[in-house]
Amino acid sequence: MYKKPSAGEDVDSYCTRCKLNLNHIIIAMIAEKIVKVKCKTCGSVHSYRNIDKMIKGSRERGSGPSGKRPAAVKNIEALWQAGIAEAKSAEMPYDMGKAYRAGDIMVHTAFGKGIVQKADFKKCTVLFRDKERVLVTSNI
Ligand SMILES: [Zn+2]
Repeated sequence: MYKKPSAGEDVDSYCTRCKLNLNHIIIAMIAEKIVKVKCKTCGSVHSYRNIDKMIKGSRERGSGPSGKRPAAVKNIEALWQAGIAEAKSAEMPYDMGKAYRAGDIMVHTAFGKGIVQKADFKKCTVLFRDKERVLVTSNI
């Protein structure tokens, strides 16, 4: 049943940018382990993340029951940190009378800093440290 993967082949991996389990191309392998993959959707290259392992827990050798926090929460925080680190725009306070663009850093009085993920009509999807929220803005 098990087919040995090799570089250049397709593999399902969690995309850190799309935040979805998507089709990726294997870029690099060490022995039989997939190390780096390229997302076919957004083209970003990142470490391979097996979504099944993330959900079911790993069968990896010698790893004890570490990390009590659910993977989803840890992931959001990692994404948030990466987003803040990558953002080049100035921090802007949240104001429902303003318009924001994807990539903007928004500072919310209650939720703290967030990265605008998506701007839609009259709203923005913003990733905060704990979770993603949809906020009312003046986008048109
Ligand atoms: Zn992607």
